Order: sequence, then structure tokens, then C-alpha cells
Amino acid sequence: MGSGQVTSSGPTDFTGRRITVAGLGVSGVPAAKVLHGLGAHVTVVNDGDDERARAQAAELEALGVTVRLGDGDTLPEGTDLVVTAPGWKPDKPLFAAAERAGVPVWGDVELAWRLRGPDAAPWLAVTGTNGKTTTVRMLAAILQAAGLRTAAVGNIGVSLLDAVTGEEKYDVLAVELSSYQLHWAPSLRAHSAAVLNLAPDHLDWHGSMAAYAADKGRVYEGNRVACVYNAADRATEDLVREADVEEGCRAVGFTLGTPAPSQLGVVEGILVDRAFVEDRHHNAQELAEVSDVRPPAPHNIANALAAAALARAFGVPASAVRDGLRAFTPDAHRIAHVADVDGVAYVDDSKATNTHAAEASLASYDPIVWIAGGLAKGATFDGLVAGAAGRLRGVVLIGRDRALIREALTRHAPEVPVVDLDRADTGAMLQAVQEAQRLARPGDTVLLAPACASMDMFTNYIRRGEAFAQAVRELGA
Ligand code: ADP
Repeated sequence: MGSGQVTSSGPTDFTGRRITVAGLGVSGVPAAKVLHGLGAHVTVVNDGDDERARAQAAELEALGVTVRLGDGDTLPEGTDLVVTAPGWKPDKPLFAAAERAGVPVWGDVELAWRLRGPDAAPWLAVTGTNGKTTTVRMLAAILQAAGLRTAAVGNIGVSLLDAVTGEEKYDVLAVELSSYQLHWAPSLRAHSAAVLNLAPDHLDWHGSMAAYAADKGRVYEGNRVACVYNAADRATEDLVREADVEEGCRAVGFTLGTPAPSQLGVVEGILVDRAFVEDRHHNAQELAEVSDVRPPAPHNIANALAAAALARAFGVPASAVRDGLRAFTPDAHRIAHVADVDGVAYVDDSKATNTHAAEASLASYDPIVWIAGGLAKGATFDGLVAGAAGRLRGVVLIGRDRALIREALTRHAPEVPVVDLDRADTGAMLQAVQEAQRLARPGDTVLLAPACASMDMFTNYIRRGEAFAQAVRELGA
């Protein structure tokens, strides 16, 4: 079968198809099960051959799925379609082999999109370098406040595949999409979508900033009602301009300033809508107060405006925006206030895993004792450090690539005291927090905003944030 023969015309199409699922794990295992259930001959290929992979393989093999461990590069003979885990890099030999053989490659999102039923819920999609999870959760809270059956799904915990193939019926889905997922989702067509911001990240995966931006921009393709962009981030507006959308679909901006017509923005502490109102040249609709947004940091108000724009595009009333934002509770490790100890606030923003995110949280406090470092993923730190230099009381550096941050501090903030911790054992975070305490004065904020990934020292950003919170508790004990 050539590309295009597995179509959206319905699940029965999969009967007897030979489908290769690339990668076990959070998306591969459910995909293999669903496709097997639809009558496909499924082979899963996986690079790793560890204990976890063997356990997953055993579970799938018991159902009748073929699993090949330790070789994710060879395309099984006769494959009709590859369904890949979103994280697999496009330059993997498996994809070159698929291309040579004329075999289409779908990601988990593409699969979910194709398996939607005929009366499926529309998708309100959110992507961007930072703020996706927060915005999608805010959006789901707003939709819920409007009495709609909805869920926050996608790159966020609840699998899209479960949402579209499960029993539960939805009116609308709030969908978080990563750039990887968008790369592998060519036929996705959202009701409306937002790109929150665009800063260099994951460039090692996409190959270039242009390729990364192009993948993010796919979220706007075929939008029906609104393409929501960040008026402070030209790159997002450019993506709207380049997108091929349905007739009548509007470009709607969000801004922290006074909104122009067709924008949502802020006027004297009130979030206002000048896009989804009658006569937007003369009218504006109050949605909520800035104090309804938690935490009311500037980047988070931007997230709330983006969520509000998508909800309003779906026809949600203004009061539901306010009620939803009030009902929203931020996820852990995202600018989470852990405790005050001796007049110093300790804030866990372990989720700030890149410089763009760390920039947003560093802009939210003053003065700051900053705990930073980890895996830099090819980032540079000059802009971040130069922008924050005036607010830094001191810096504690941890992690493998900390020298990169230290060098930027030497260049742009030579007066700021720096403690460089050359240890990666389980006691490292406690020592980092103790050093931060020594540097801090009452009224300061000790901020864990590492600007780096965590995997050199921790399993993930969650464990890193937990280690921080535990260390803060030990200080206060
Ligand atoms: P994502 O799902 O895109 O990783 P999150 O909502 O989990 O986004 O937030 C990740 C981190 O990014 C937060 O901890 C915060 O530091 C930062 N952040 C959140 N929203 C924004 C934004 N709009 N602009 C810049 N940084 C942000």
C-alpha cells in the first residue's frame, strides 16, 4: 500500500494492514493495542531492550502483537504504515526507509485525529515553547465553567488516543501539542489554535529554528474560527500569516497592553476582549481581573489571555472565563511558592527547563537568589543573564553545564556572587538551597529556575522540584 491509502474514512480501513509502531512507551503501547484491536497486523520496533521494554513487550505479545526489541532502525518487510512515538528524530534511518518505500509516517496525534468518530468533539489546540500545559489547563477550566464536557489532553498526561477512542463523550477538547507531535501530524485541523511564543528549544531535534517554527506553525493549518497569536512575539504572527486556513477564520492577538480591535488584552487590571464582541472597533468585553489569574506573573497573564481567546472562539460567555480562571489551580513545579523561611520566599520553577521559561520567571521577582544549571541542550545564556543581572542578589550553580552559565555571569554580572557546586549526588540540592539561604536577605526570593533540563542529576524536572521543596523544608525545620 502506498502513502495515502490508509485514510480518514474509518477504523475498518485498518483491518489486515501491516502497521509498524515505532517505539514502546506512553504513546506506542496504547497505539499498538488500539490498532491491533482494529484488526491490523502490528509490529512494534524499539531501540531499547531493557527490563521495562521487555515487560511491555510481553504484555503486547500476549495480545498477538509482534515486538522487535533492540532494533528501531529496520523497517519490517511489507509495512503499510508507520506510527511513531513523537520523540523519534526525523533523521532516524527507519523514516528514510519508510520514505524510500513510499510508506506514510504518522505520529500519535495524527493517529488520534484519524480515529476520531464522525461526531467527534472539535479540538482547541495550544502549542508554543513555554506555557502550553498551563494554558491548556486554564482553557479546560474555562470550558468546564461554561458547562461543557471537556478534558485537557495531549502532551499533558491524558492521551489523545484515549480521549478519542474511549467511552467518555466530549463537547470540545483542550489539546496540548508539542512541536514533535505537530511534526508528525500533517492532517490535523483544529477548530482554533494558539501559538503562545516561539524561542529556540529542541533545535537538536528539529535541525534548525526554521524547521522548529514550521512544525509549530502546523497547528494553524486548516483552523476554522481563530488563529490566536502573541502580539508581543512577531514570529507567532508570521506563522498565522503563512497558514492556510478555512475561509472566515480570524487572526486574534493577545497582548499585556491595551488591545487593538481583534485582540484580547489588559486595561487597568482587567482582562478585556476586543475580538469576540459586537462592533469590536468601539466595544470591549470585560472578562476577568488580573487578580483572578494565579500566579499573576506577566507571562501567566499572557497564558490566561490565550486560553480566554480560544474559549471565546468556541463561543464561551465572559463570565465562564472569570469563573474558570478562578477555579484553575497551577500545576506543581511551575512558579510554585514552597515556603517563606526567615522572610525569604522559596519558589520552585523546576519546569523552567529552557532559557525562555527561566527569563519569564526571573522577570517575576526582585531581588533574586537564583539556583540554575543542568543540561543546557545547546542553549546559550548571555541574553538571559544580561536581562536578569540587575535583579540578582546571588547565584548558585548546579549540574553538568553550569560553566556555561558561570561564563555568562562573568561577562554580564561580574559583581554578583556565584557559588559553583561541583557535586551531583543526592545531597547536592540541599547544599544548593543552604548556599542560597546564606546569600539571601529578608524580602528576597530564592528561585529554582534552572534554564536547563534536569536529567544529569534527577530523573526529571518533577524530582528536581521535589528535591528543592524537601531541602527548603529542612531549612525551616
Ligand atoms: P510547557 O507545557 O510549554 O512546558 P508550562 O505551562 O508547563 O509550559 O510552563 C513551563 C515553564 O515555562 C513554567 O515553569 C514557566 O517558567 C514558563 N512559562 C510559562 N508560561 C510562559 C510564557 N507564556 N512565556 C514564557 N515562559 C512561560
